[in-house]
Amino acid sequence: MDVIRTVFREDHEMLRDSARRFFERECVPRQCAWDQAGRVDRETWLKAGREGLLCAAIPFEYGGGGGDFGHSAVILEETHRAGISGAGFSLHSDIIAPYINRLGTEAQKQKWLPSICTGETILAVGITEPGGGSDVKAARTTAVREGDEYVINGSKTFISNGMSADMIMLVCKTDPAAGSKGISLIMVETNREGFRRGRKLQKVGQPAADTAELFFDNVRVPVGNLLGEPNHGFGYLMQELAQERLIIALYAAAALERLLGVTLEYVKDRRAFGQTVWDFQNTKFKLADAKAHAVALRTMVDYYLGEHLRRKLTVHEAAIAKLHATETLWKCLDDMVQLHGGYGYTLEYPIARAFADYRVSRVVGGANEVMRDLIARKL
Ligand SMILES: Cc1cc2nc3c(=O)[nH]c(=O)nc-3n(C[C@H](O)[C@H](O)[C@H](O)COP(=O)(O)OP(=O)(O)OC[C@H]3O[C@@H](n4cnc5c(N)ncnc54)[C@H](O)[C@@H]3O)c2cc1C
Repeated sequence: MDVIRTVFREDHEMLRDSARRFFERECVPRQCAWDQAGRVDRETWLKAGREGLLCAAIPFEYGGGGGDFGHSAVILEETHRAGISGAGFSLHSDIIAPYINRLGTEAQKQKWLPSICTGETILAVGITEPGGGSDVKAARTTAVREGDEYVINGSKTFISNGMSADMIMLVCKTDPAAGSKGISLIMVETNREGFRRGRKLQKVGQPAADTAELFFDNVRVPVGNLLGEPNHGFGYLMQELAQERLIIALYAAAALERLLGVTLEYVKDRRAFGQTVWDFQNTKFKLADAKAHAVALRTMVDYYLGEHLRRKLTVHEAAIAKLHATETLWKCLDDMVQLHGGYGYTLEYPIARAFADYRVSRVVGGANEVMRDLIARKL
């Protein structure tokens, strides 16, 4: 029997139905075009905005869905159930927009959030630099105050939505000598003079994700673009990273359930030595293991999702969720690729796409070694 999920309400499930229809109707048929273009087209962003699938947890008064993180979670799950690859909707809606909602002044929220909720303004977050991503406090991009402006110099890399973004939440050093106590978050519009996009990076997977290099050469922004207090950025990041890590765990659980179905369908059809691949005991055992992992993962992730909805999820718990979910998915994916034989290595098959797309989940949102370090601190 599958896990009976008690974490969602009826209004969450209603949103799930419309998200499922939207992804099947508007996104699945466009995946191939997105992969070739190397990005998700703007029209689909705007459609997602019109359908209420962007910024579901941002309050109504700023143009959002007025929901909670449960609404974000069902949209995210449906994206991964549909096998959508490389769409930056959740990053935009559930990772970056919440910073503005939580830290922004009333004027900032009124100015920025409405066009973010419609998809007219696409967001990116710039933390990682060419010299390193795990050690955020070592960031070298600087923002120096001159009168009523910050002057920004530096570069970022691996930035998701980087080629499409209209606005970037940038991690800058406002007091370079102060380490983690000298970091600030500054919103930078990409039409500012001195901003430049570099290469769109050619990745192993997620071809439709426009992961890019960004350069800032004396970019001037008003001091009113600072989010929250100056030099408090590191603390803000650590708090919000818990939700980002839960998001990764949620999509890993949804992906594992989908890929188990994909693999079962394949092995029951494929024949070898006069029987189906399913008929080998090894296949049954591998997929029984995957099922047990999927059920255990679902139980764990729903528990942590419930904790988050009660605002009780800790940084430590989010690290456990992210670590366990992504390592479990990876282990099962490797077995499932094996059961597909050579076809498991060809991108025409969803299992191969998934193998390429999800590998990075053990690195992004904080490498899993950093998760282990966070967990070990409490042992
Ligand atoms: C597809 C993709 C999308 C991304 N999107 C974004 C984005 O939108 N915005 C953004 O800012 N960044 C983004 N990133 C960057 C991502 O967050 C970083 O790659 C990640 O934080 C690791 O940083 P790094 O690549 O510099 O690795 P490094 O910091 O150089 O680490 C390399 C390896 O060293 C080991 N290591 C590091 N620290 C420790 C430690 N404390 N203990 C033990 N081992 C350790 C780990 O094995 C780690 O994988 C993205 C990356 C990819 C690939």
